[in-house]
Formats: sequence, structure tokens, C-alpha cells
Amino acid sequence: MALAQAAAEEARAAGEVPVGAVLVRGDEVIAKGFNHPIGAHDPSAHAEMIALRAAARAVENYRLPGCELYVTLEPCLMCAGAIMHARIARVVFGARDPKTGACGSVVDAFANPQLNHHTTVSGGVLEAECGAALKSFFAERRRASREARAAARAAEAADNLPSAEAL
Ligand SMILES: [Zn+2]
Repeated sequence: MALAQAAAEEARAAGEVPVGAVLVRGDEVIAKGFNHPIGAHDPSAHAEMIALRAAARAVENYRLPGCELYVTLEPCLMCAGAIMHARIARVVFGARDPKTGACGSVVDAFANPQLNHHTTVSGGVLEAECGAALKSFFAERRRASREARAAARAAEAADNLPSAEAL
């Protein structure tokens, strides 16, 4: 999970919501990925999808049986679907996602035996740390947008002052 957290920091550095994922087979790290849908102009560029694509390319197989995916945030429905298609053995996630989590928070895609026979899920691993990374990102973003609004108001107020020539 520490490697997934490091990948999440790469997302933060790119100005994206900091989520990171690592794909492991046994002791071997096969691939990692960080969330960057904005920079990639790609709604599917979640950390898990990036890691799955890279891993499948690395082993030249679209199925990744026996692999474990570590991700700092509970996967969404899209990622849960891709995880199932890849036949991932186990998903370990950090923070729960009350808005789009598909491992029990909003829906539980993996609990449906008609959909999935392959993947076990462990949630809440380093939950506080993984959640804190996301909270600090959104707090920083809110602060930056408050400052931008204040600067815009100040500029507008300055524009409305009578100029020296008019006085
Ligand atoms: Zn996702």
C-alpha cells in the first residue's frame, strides 16, 4: 500500500485527485498507476485502469489471475468491472468512497456472485492515511479557489474605483 500511496502523490503533483494503485503478483510489482483523467482527457484514466493496462501489457495477457491490486481509494464501478474482467484475485483498498465506491460504500459489485467469482476484497487498509491524502488535496483546492475568488473580487473593486484622471 505504501507504493500505491507514493503513486497517489504522483497524481497530486500532476494536479489530479491523488489516487494510486499497484498491481502485485506474489512479491513482484508488475505495474502501478496514478489517477489522471484530466491530463489524459480520459474519463477512464483512474489509477486502477492505468495499472491494469500496464500489467496486462507487461505479462501480455488480458487476464491477470493470481494478481493483487492495491489502491488507495475504493474502486468505482468502472474499475470494479475492469478488475473482474482481468480476473484479479484480490483487491486491497485504503479509503472508502461514499460517493462512487463500488466495494460496499454505494454498491457492492463484488458481492454479486452472478457478476464475480474471482475477486476477494479487503477494504480500509491504512484507511486514515489514504483518506488524509485525499482530504488535504480537496482542502488545498478549496483554499486555492477561495483565494482566486477573493483576487477576482479585489480586481473588480479596483476596476470600479474612479481613475485619477476622472477626479
Ligand atoms: Zn475507478
